[in-house]
Amino acid sequence: MIFVIVVAIAISGAVIDKFVNPITIAITTTIASLGTSRRSRLNLGSACQAVHLAKAEFYPGSQLQSMDLGLYFAGRRVERAIARITLCKTKRKLRKMKTLPHLFESNRKWAERVSMAEPDFFSSLQAQQSPEYLWIGCSDSRVPANEIVDLRPGELFVHRNVANLVVYSDLNCLSVVQYAVDILRVKHVIVCGHYGCGGVSAAMEDKPHGLVDNWLRHVRDIYHQNRAVLDAIPDIDERKRKLCELNVVTQVGNLANTTIVQDAWRRGQSLVIHGWIYDLGDGILRDMGVSIASCGELESATRS
Ligand SMILES: [Zn+2]
Repeated sequence: MIFVIVVAIAISGAVIDKFVNPITIAITTTIASLGTSRRSRLNLGSACQAVHLAKAEFYPGSQLQSMDLGLYFAGRRVERAIARITLCKTKRKLRKMKTLPHLFESNRKWAERVSMAEPDFFSSLQAQQSPEYLWIGCSDSRVPANEIVDLRPGELFVHRNVANLVVYSDLNCLSVVQYAVDILRVKHVIVCGHYGCGGVSAAMEDKPHGLVDNWLRHVRDIYHQNRAVLDAIPDIDERKRKLCELNVVTQVGNLANTTIVQDAWRRGQSLVIHGWIYDLGDGILRDMGVSIASCGELESATRS
């Protein structure tokens, strides 16, 4: 509203300059520009710019009059105020991006909730972790390990990577498996894939995806090894689902063949490897029926 009034007065003043007191406009604009409302300052800034434009339009090349000078300085002041506001906004936004306060707030509320429900929860966790399960799953944000099996902190040791692979040269994954099996003495290792896996889909495509293609080469190899079975499936989505399943079965075999797991079985350690797949569509886990609990079972599974 202020914007409209100021512009209207200014333009009228520019047209009929003799009937408008230029000092009054300058003073009014200056005083109004000191208003505390950010919105009104922004509007006034625009208004002053409009006034300048109007004056320049009607008096091209003319000398600056008292009204022009008043408006000019008022405009400059508003522009500086706008610049300061913009700078503050940018700084606030950057600070927020660098500190992610909403996540800390969520964390604080979560910790409070857990502590209220179970006062000793964090102190007992601090003493020791003794998870019974190691989870090897996909990095996909839609497949959060603890949540989909409803396990609490301390109950699931987790390793995740793109397309839930167990690669013999991956020291990261192997270190996790070794720590879980040898030190934590987990009883179960679950390799969990999921339908709709972007990594598996990408491995089936004939277009580059950058560095990740080197990692997905392992899935692509599975695709080529099972090409006859997969190509016989006419529906592309069904074919992708099948490759997701085959990927899980392959990774279970890879895991069972690591020296870490083999050694554990040889020394009589109780350790079962499972292959599961998660359906994003209904949130349900399905057992692929490829569980292995000993070297003997691995040999018979490999023969069949
Ligand atoms: Zn995935």
